[in-house]
Amino acid sequence: MTEKIVSDIINSNVFVIEKNCNFIIIDAGAKVDTVKHIIENISKKYSLADGKANVLGIFLTHGHYDHCFFVQDYANTFGCKIYASKFAKEYLQNPDYNYSEGKFKIEDFSDFQFLDGDGQICLEDFKISYYQLGGHSKSDVCFLIDDEIFVGDVLIGRNMGRIDLFGGDKAEMKKSLEKLVKINYNVMHSGHGEDNSKASQDKVAKLWIKFLGR
Ligand SMILES: [Zn+2]
Repeated sequence: MTEKIVSDIINSNVFVIEKNCNFIIIDAGAKVDTVKHIIENISKKYSLADGKANVLGIFLTHGHYDHCFFVQDYANTFGCKIYASKFAKEYLQNPDYNYSEGKFKIEDFSDFQFLDGDGQICLEDFKISYYQLGGHSKSDVCFLIDDEIFVGDVLIGRNMGRIDLFGGDKAEMKKSLEKLVKINYNVMHSGHGEDNSKASQDKVAKLWIKFLGR
């Protein structure tokens, strides 16, 4: 089961995914109480005392502040690790790179596990495949869980993510979109806006690949 929460302050998506009353969270732009409430409600269906839930990890799609702002609250509340690209660190450390206008930076990375390249993480019943997809930032990584992919700002509906921000790169974005088209999934969850199917997003990606190749 996947639940989407739209952050009321920065309009980014947070996803809570549940399997057998274990949870993982993708991105951290919504207040921790909102996320906790959703998790407790799902847990209640399992008649667990006090809706006690087990969050196995928080996964960050990239280091921009609107996707990470509350991540330390999440880690403290749920007592779990944060997974992010190894390139996310310089964004999280520096408000100029994460675009928080001085409001957000992380100094203590003890809860973090940094991901290098592509790979897979297994947590209880979750198999989470991850793929580095630079271009929007250096730190973009998408997560594939069963037939659902979480792409952050690489592709948002019919738009490609911005490539004019710190670490953005046209050639990298082209490579990332080519890589994305080759991944099998049914539903794409973006960092903002609505979900889309692979059929529609393959068309969108191919148009941007053409555009970027000019
Ligand atoms: Zn972004």
